[in-house]
Amino acid sequence: MIEEPKSKFVRVRCPKCKNDQVIFGKAATKVRCVVCNRLLAEPTGGKTKIRTQVLEVLE
Ligand SMILES: [Zn+2]
Repeated sequence: MIEEPKSKFVRVRCPKCKNDQVIFGKAATKVRCVVCNRLLAEPTGGKTKIRTQVLEVLE
């Protein structure tokens, strides 16, 4: 098992349907809105690029 340094979860809001969703801050795959399928985050070289509004960072 690989140890991750402080991986966080973030609560984001879909700009299209206003659905709140908690996503992993280090997602390895693209994250889409569960309601409307809009792209919310995508992995870029080890980090995750959040493509929507971040409401809250959860420790
Ligand atoms: Zn949505």
